[in-house]
Amino acid sequence: MLKGAILVLSGPSGAGKSTIISASSDEIGEYYFSISTTTREPRVGEQNGVDYFFVSKASFEEDIKAGNFLEYAQVHGNYYGTSLKPVKKALEEGKLVIFDIDVQGHRLVRAKMNDITTSVFITPPTLKSLETRLRARCTDDESIILNRITNAKSEIQALGEYDFTIINDTVEKASKAFSLVAKVARLKQSSTDEADFIHQWLGKK
Ligand code: ADP
Ligand code: 5GP
Repeated sequence: MLKGAILVLSGPSGAGKSTIISASSDEIGEYYFSISTTTREPRVGEQNGVDYFFVSKASFEEDIKAGNFLEYAQVHGNYYGTSLKPVKKALEEGKLVIFDIDVQGHRLVRAKMNDITTSVFITPPTLKSLETRLRARCTDDESIILNRITNAKSEIQALGEYDFTIINDTVEKASKAFSLVAKVARLKQSSTDEADFIHQWLGKK
């Protein structure tokens, strides 16, 4: 049985998702961060098995065929996906599982595991500030940055699908808000748990 809870974190590339997860990690307590698999090239400083599992397109497509993904999507021309096995294990152990996935992934997770999912959309205050941060990160070519900005304009339209929005103005404020959301997410129980609880509460055998 899945005793844990899921926290989905989405937002345009460059919104500050990784920055906020690391800045809040002490506050959140124990959690399992779902490491995605991707066909995109690693950025300078990114490590295989830490930031992502970097694989070839052929290998990713084999995993799709084998049904190994809880969800996957094409983002910015590359595949990104969440492997089912480690997530299921962490949920069975009662952990809070954090996903950094795009808006398509969020819809798929909602469709499969709505009753244990909480979601938050993170964005810089304006499109202009997103652009500045993407350039300041110095990890992507100009064409990649332009592609991410184009995507951001459509991703922001999905903001209303999320339980919470965090405006990443300062890292400090955004991390505080994220820690609170993570605490709330932990309180979400699966409907199976609720049914069991009601059964016991009524004193039924
Ligand atoms: P994401 O994981 O959403 O793609 P990152 O965490 O890599 O985004 O952040 C993108 C860039 O913006 C990084 O260079 C990061 O240091 C910077 N950044 C993050 N939050 C802020 C903030 N509140 N103010 C200014 N720069 C920020
Ligand atoms: P980046 O290339 O900047 O690391 O990520 C690009 C986008 O892909 C981000 O919006 C990020 O949230 C999303 N992403 C990362 N991993 C996954 C995943 O496993 N599934 C889905 N659907 N999106 C992902």
